[in-house]
Amino acid sequence: MSKPVLVINSGSSSLKYQVVDAESGEALAVGLIERIGGAGPGALTHTVGGEKHPAEVQVPDHAAAMAAMSDAFAQHGPDLAEVGLVAVGHRVVQGGARFGHSVHIDEEALATIEQLSDLAPLHNPANAAGIRVARAQFPDLPHVAVFDTAFHLTMPEVAHTYAIDREVAEEHRIRRYGFHGTSHAYVSQRAAEFLGQPLEDTNVIVLHLGNGASACAVRGGISVDTSMGLTPLEGLVMGTRSGDIDPAVVFHLARTAGMDIDAVDTLLNKRSGVLGLSGRQDMRDLVEAAAAGEPEAQLALEVYCYRVRKYIGAYLAVLGRVDAIVFTAGIGENSAEVRALTLEGLAGLGIELDGEANLVRSGEARDIATSASRVRVLVIPTNEELEIARQAIDVVGTRSSTYN
Ligand code: AMP
Repeated sequence: MSKPVLVINSGSSSLKYQVVDAESGEALAVGLIERIGGAGPGALTHTVGGEKHPAEVQVPDHAAAMAAMSDAFAQHGPDLAEVGLVAVGHRVVQGGARFGHSVHIDEEALATIEQLSDLAPLHNPANAAGIRVARAQFPDLPHVAVFDTAFHLTMPEVAHTYAIDREVAEEHRIRRYGFHGTSHAYVSQRAAEFLGQPLEDTNVIVLHLGNGASACAVRGGISVDTSMGLTPLEGLVMGTRSGDIDPAVVFHLARTAGMDIDAVDTLLNKRSGVLGLSGRQDMRDLVEAAAAGEPEAQLALEVYCYRVRKYIGAYLAVLGRVDAIVFTAGIGENSAEVRALTLEGLAGLGIELDGEANLVRSGEARDIATSASRVRVLVIPTNEELEIARQAIDVVGTRSSTYN
């Protein structure tokens, strides 16, 4: 039986949507609306049956964006009234310590999501705005919030605690939350399926390497550590984010360069990472420039991969026994160079990449380790929309069995 879900990812200036069948995984339509609230017109791309339908749209706010989305469905299909939507699943970035799993959205849940905005000022207000307008547009459907942080709420205290004054930390809810949870959850499940092992007995290190990037140590399907922290700034080197740095860099910049907090925030979140090191944010460009012998690009690539390698070492120690290292997201799935450079010299730890298998391009889950490698090396395409759809169905199912 098909179970179509409308998945909505509402950002501050963009809205991504997808109608995905939670049973088959088939995406019936995919859309993106950009430049919401901008000075000029926005851009909408609605893709259905492999055909792209671009349009210029007037989107001064999220309500207008939601209306533009409905117009696109009406014009290019599928007909939302006919498709038999079962639920609307919303991506929410920060669930704090409050949400350890996906929830049905009522007024109370929505208010809590808004209250968590102080922990995610760039994301939660936009997520909440998307929820509000979607509930008005689809009042008869159940709406479910799926949190980026929820998968990591299982992290033990020892992994999520920062060694700072306890009272300050408690008062301001400062701890490690972690992000990319839907991706880490989906990919670690798929890894266990691929290995033909029960999830409960499978330990993996998931490397979600996209424009944002995080590593996750997953023991038996449960997140026990992850590289992002209070915000998505901690951990790996990313497209524009620094990842781990000495926090004293912030004081130093304030004292010696006279930078205020917002300037440092912008520096570390938007002007750092491989972009800051090389002037290139896109990994394809970076790899090309490094291959052409550009020293800044070579160093940026090496710093990027070295940081991932350090986290692999750390999570081998955290997990004790690891069945597989799993690469996913735009860079993890597509860049043979990054995978090879990251795993260089790890044979002593039982991790051996098969050079030829690594070069094969494919959209399928695959094993790229040598047969002798004790730890498998997998490439598994992530699918956050499908995971959101599945979790929405789980919540709707639970609700109907509880209340009907
Ligand atoms: P994501 O955030 O998962 O969409 O990933 C975006 C990142 O994936 C960008 O930095 C892209 O450069 C990178 N990417 C996509 N395709 C490739 C590729 N063939 N080789 C290297 N990087 C890629």
